[in-house]
Amino acid sequence: MTRSLTILGATGSIGRSTADVVLAHRDEFRVEAVVGGRDAAALAEVARRLGARFAALSDERGGETLKEALSGTGIASGAGQSAILEAVARETDVVLAAISGTAGLAPTHAALKAGRRIALANKESLVCAGEAFMADARRLGVEIMPVDSEHNALDHALAAGLNRDVEKAVITASGGPFRTWSKERIAQADADVASAHPVWSMGSKINIDSATLMNKGLELIEAHHLFGLEAERLDVLVHPEAIVHGLVQWRDGAVTAGLALPDMKVPIANALRHRERLQMDLPRLDLAAIGRLSFDRPDEERFPCLSLAKAALKAGGAMPTVLNAANEIAVEAYRAGRIRFYDISEMVESVCSTFSGRRLSAPAIVADALEIDREAREAAMGLMPAHA
Ligand code: NAD
Ligand code: MG
Repeated sequence: MTRSLTILGATGSIGRSTADVVLAHRDEFRVEAVVGGRDAAALAEVARRLGARFAALSDERGGETLKEALSGTGIASGAGQSAILEAVARETDVVLAAISGTAGLAPTHAALKAGRRIALANKESLVCAGEAFMADARRLGVEIMPVDSEHNALDHALAAGLNRDVEKAVITASGGPFRTWSKERIAQADADVASAHPVWSMGSKINIDSATLMNKGLELIEAHHLFGLEAERLDVLVHPEAIVHGLVQWRDGAVTAGLALPDMKVPIANALRHRERLQMDLPRLDLAAIGRLSFDRPDEERFPCLSLAKAALKAGGAMPTVLNAANEIAVEAYRAGRIRFYDISEMVESVCSTFSGRRLSAPAIVADALEIDREAREAAMGLMPAHA
C-alpha cells in the first residue's frame, strides 16, 4: 500500500537519508510536501527528485528563487511560516519531523494537531515541550514513532514485555570524537575537530552535541517522554562501535536489545512504516566480522553536559526547556569560535541555575515552551563574553 509522506527538514542530514529510503521504494511512498529552512536551490532539488506536490521554505527571502527553480515542474511552492503551515496541513499518512532545533517545535506540533502520524527525529519537540506533545498525542490518538536510533531500538525492545517490568532502559553513546581524550586536550579543541564524528554522519549541531554528550542527555529526556520512564529507570552506556543502540533490562534479569549497523536509514525506514519492515538493501550486520563489542560508563567529569541534562530531567518542570535553549546558544557560539569547549557546559549550568529558583512548571502548551525557550536564550546571550 502506498503511503503519503511530508518531510519537514528535507534538505538536512535526516531529510536526505529519508529521500534515499523513499527513492529506493518508489511504490511504497508518495511525497506530498517537503519543507526546508533557507536553501531554496537544495529544497527545489529534493522536491523534484521526490516528485513532491508542494515545497515550503522557511526563509521568505528565498521564495522567488524557489518558485523559479520549480517552474515548469508543476510543483507548487511557498515561503515563510504560513507556507510551512500549509505544507503541514496537507493530507498525508505520515509527517517525518526532521527540522533541527527549537525551530522544529511549531511545525511538528501543527502536524500532530492535524492528526498526522509523526515519525519524530526532532528530539527538541519532546525535550522542550514533552508534556504538551505527549498529552496532545494521547488526546488525539496520534502515534509518535521515534526516528532517533536509540529510541527506535528501545521501542522494539520494549515491545518484548510490559512497561512496569522494566528495571532499566539504556541508550548507548558512541562517545564522540573526544571519547579517549584528556580533559586538557578537549578544552583546547575547536569546533572543526568536535564536528568530526567517528561513526555517524549527521548535521553539524548534533555533531557538537555528540562531542559534549549533551545529545545523549537530550535523548534521556526524549526517552522519558516517549516511554513514560522516570529518570531512575534510564541510563547511558558508552559503546564506540555503535551497534547496540538501546537495551531494556527486565525485572527478571533478562535483557532485550536493539542492534543494527549505524545507518539512520534503518530507523527512518522503520518509523516511516510504523514498525513494518521494509526491504532495505544495506550492508548486513556481521557480528563475527566485528568480533568484539565494547562498553564503558560515561565520564561525566570530562563530559559535564551529560550530568547537566540528567539534573534537568530529575528537576523536571521547565528545566529541560531551559537547558536545551541555553545549549543551542552555547553551541552556536562555539561553532562560531566565540567560546571554548567547556564554556558550553558552564553557560548551560549558569543559565539553568538562574532559572532553578523560579521553579517553572512544565510547559503545558507549545507556546509556553517557546516563551521559556526565548527567555533562556536571552539569559544565555547575556553570558556571552564581551569581546565576542
Ligand atoms: P540538519 O542541520 O542536517 O538539517 C536540518 C533541516 O532543518 C534542514 O533541512 C534545514 O533546512 C531545516 N531547517 C532549519 N531551520 C529551519 C526552520 N526554521 N524552518 C524550517 N526548516 C528548517 O539536521 P539533522 O542532523 O538532519 O537533524 C534534524 C533533527 O533530527 C534534529 O532535531 C536532530 O537532533 C535529529 N536527529 C538527527 C540525527 C542524525 O543522524 N542527523 C539522529 C537523530 C536525531
Ligand atoms: Mg540518537
